Amino acid sequence: MISYAEANKIVFEEFSRLKLEAEEVPLLESLNRILAEDVFADVNLPPFNNSAMDGFAIRYSENISRWKVVGEISAGNFSHFDIDAISAVGIMTGGKIPNNCDAVIPIEDVNENEGSIFLKTGVTLKKRNHIRKMGEDLKEGERALKKNTFIKPQHIAIGATCGKSKINVFRKLKIGVLATGDELIPITETPRDDKIRSSNVFTLISLIDQMSMTAIDLGLAKDNQTEIKEKITNGLKQNIDILITTGGISVGKYDLMHEIFSDIGVEKKFWRANIKPGKPVFFGVLTKSNKRALIFGLPGNPVSCFVNFLIFIRNNIEKLYGVESKHVINAELQNDLKKKDNKRHFMRGILSENVDGKRIVTSNFTQSSGNLAETSRANCLMVIEEERRDPKKGELVECIMM
Ligand code: AMP
Ligand code: MG
Repeated sequence: MISYAEANKIVFEEFSRLKLEAEEVPLLESLNRILAEDVFADVNLPPFNNSAMDGFAIRYSENISRWKVVGEISAGNFSHFDIDAISAVGIMTGGKIPNNCDAVIPIEDVNENEGSIFLKTGVTLKKRNHIRKMGEDLKEGERALKKNTFIKPQHIAIGATCGKSKINVFRKLKIGVLATGDELIPITETPRDDKIRSSNVFTLISLIDQMSMTAIDLGLAKDNQTEIKEKITNGLKQNIDILITTGGISVGKYDLMHEIFSDIGVEKKFWRANIKPGKPVFFGVLTKSNKRALIFGLPGNPVSCFVNFLIFIRNNIEKLYGVESKHVINAELQNDLKKKDNKRHFMRGILSENVDGKRIVTSNFTQSSGNLAETSRANCLMVIEEERRDPKKGELVECIMM
């Protein structure tokens, strides 16, 4: 059986063959997308010297502590004043500093009397005090945002300041999701007899949405070759980059996906990886009229399916888009764990920081691979490598945040 590292390498090789064209979108629509260009400041930021405080602009001179106020400049309303060493101009935050001024005294540092201001005792004045210099944030032509940035509101802010009303982001991958199984019913129905609600579709679509990719819901299919093939074909017609199916990929009598994938021409890359949970994972590639689609046949088990997405799909999408993953964190184990075999385990845990700011991870979970409630209480998967046995409290483990 293939190891996780080998399997993941194969998956990444195929991901890296996907073409990521850029598309121009209105700035606000770039939120949570991946930047496909470097953004440069088209002007100095700030564009002019301006006041960081409400107060008075002066020309600094060491021995002077009293000035005559000769006028006022508010933000956006500049006018020129001749300033000598004993005159000051009232200035508001954001107001442009007159050329011959080189310091601002905050309003709270002076007393005012009959058109003059006096420095309060104990206040020291410094040259360049409270002046935001032209270009101190960014110089004209300087790079403001780096290609491959995952765009958050703070990046939108810079984009806006640089006048990028439209911006280039990488296109979203289209990912089709199909759940298979005779036992599945829509979540709007109440399960009777031997039926269950198909949660996997929701898990996968939300995971895809969270990455700002496009999820295409291909619905539920019974364990029936014709129906499954029809729904896959429907997905392929919509030009999907990736197909994820769940269920029917193990070794049971009704595990039909192998035959189906082979019939429709999927080139199998691997089936089953030496991991827990998620062992029955299938991966292949389907090439149809010059279009390649990556095919994941995930097991129906809800936890397996979730874990498989994080360790084979989310990580590789991040790599493909060149974004720095923030999902892997090392932490100190707070309790002993049981692990007897040579599989790579992905165990549920709760990662936090202790009072000293040290990353710690606790796990009192059963690790039963069917337990969705447990998964919902966890916030990470602890990676217990193949050769590792019974990790002990105090050992360091790698955690994949969920
Ligand atoms: P399978 O991989 O088809 O053998 O299914 C493994 C287990 O996962 C079975 O207990 C199924 O009932 C369950 N299962 C399969 N598909 C889903 C689904 N879409 N949502 C929730 N559970 C599922
Ligand atoms: Mg099944």
